Amino acid sequence: MAPAANPVQQLQAQQSILLLARQLADTLQAWWETPDQQRQARLELAQAAALRGCAYLACPNAGAGGALTAGAQEGASRCSGCRVVWYCDTACSHADWAAGHRRVCKHLGAARAAAQAAGQAASGSG
Ligand SMILES: [Zn+2]
Ligand SMILES: [Zn+2]
Repeated sequence: MAPAANPVQQLQAQQSILLLARQLADTLQAWWETPDQQRQARLELAQAAALRGCAYLACPNAGAGGALTAGAQEGASRCSGCRVVWYCDTACSHADWAAGHRRVCKHLGAARAAAQAAGQAASGSG
């Protein structure tokens, strides 16, 4: 068996092909994303937003350091639907509802319930 080309060059070539393939896959995925995947992506975004003090991504108070700790603020408002996300006030909750929270609210609530059930099952003799 003849010695192959420089293995480092081979590796680099493979990596650049993989990178191209990955970019192509990402592009295709953006085109072909199913409603299920879109819902999952929205849910993940909402769960990330739930870690914020105010889950409204365009919250006018977020930049001022006012929306850092979930639920810790005076007048903070929690979504009564999912009980997962917090807002600095009802104005933010209404704005986020219109901005898309209404689409993920029940899914967030279901995910929270499932996580709680799993936690209780895991803790055993509770
Ligand atoms: Zn807010
Ligand atoms: Zn909600």
